[in-house]
Amino acid sequence: MRIITHEQCAGYSHPGHPERPERITSTIKVLRAQSEVSLEWVAPIPAKSEPVLRAHSADHLARLDEAEDFDVDTPFVPQLKDYALASTGAALQALEAARRGETVFSLMRPPGHHATRTRAMGFCYLNNIAIAVLEALALGSKKVAVYDFDVHHGNGTEAILLNKPGAEFFSIHQFPCYPGTGTRNVGNNCYNYPLPPQTPRTQYRQVLSSALEQLQKFKPDLVAVSAGFDAYARDPLAQETLEAEDFYWLGKSLRNLGIPVFSLLEGGYSNDLPELILSYLKGLEGK
Ligand SMILES: [Zn+2]
Repeated sequence: MRIITHEQCAGYSHPGHPERPERITSTIKVLRAQSEVSLEWVAPIPAKSEPVLRAHSADHLARLDEAEDFDVDTPFVPQLKDYALASTGAALQALEAARRGETVFSLMRPPGHHATRTRAMGFCYLNNIAIAVLEALALGSKKVAVYDFDVHHGNGTEAILLNKPGAEFFSIHQFPCYPGTGTRNVGNNCYNYPLPPQTPRTQYRQVLSSALEQLQKFKPDLVAVSAGFDAYARDPLAQETLEAEDFYWLGKSLRNLGIPVFSLLEGGYSNDLPELILSYLKGLEGK
């Protein structure tokens, strides 16, 4: 399996912010120390502006150079644009690897699924997954599905892909929760599965499973996964109930689709994040 990452993405931080460098550095440590899944480490190549501008306005991309916070959650940091473009570049490399039939995971920050065409929010600056989906369609994929199992609604991905021919979006998330959207299906291609806080695990898994069944009906030739690990029972930012074996099950279920899949790290803020990611990778690898 290919892991796209570089410790450089741990080079920025903001005091007290849950989206912190250790999310990546501690995961790299755990993945390097294990031998169950054989990993090939690949460094990200920064994205060029052309694919980014399919999903975002030129003003938004230029705004990443302005030394001013977007909101309390989404601060400006020095070299922000470089960090954001590296994370997007990793997403595009993950897409390419999936198109070649490889199993791949992008272990990068910042995450992306809350960023809209014109707005950075929710720790996200560029919408890596939407950019990769639009690139896939430009490269000739006919049907690309997004499966977003982060505990927060992927509002930015939904807004960018809304009614986009060839794209479908499936998000399973806690509601009420940040960002307060995702209560119903929208347009002709965005399907939302809101779940109340403290939904029992078995029930949460049933909903993850039925979303996946819906996704299969679309018969995608490629699946892009917003892999957030914050529906975990002990995540500090949400109130759901999943355990490590549920992330293993998610990986295995996505593998069993028999369709090229690529996964990008979104959220996941507990200290157990490395083990949750490893469980997911084992599932993806069919271990
Ligand atoms: Zn999240």
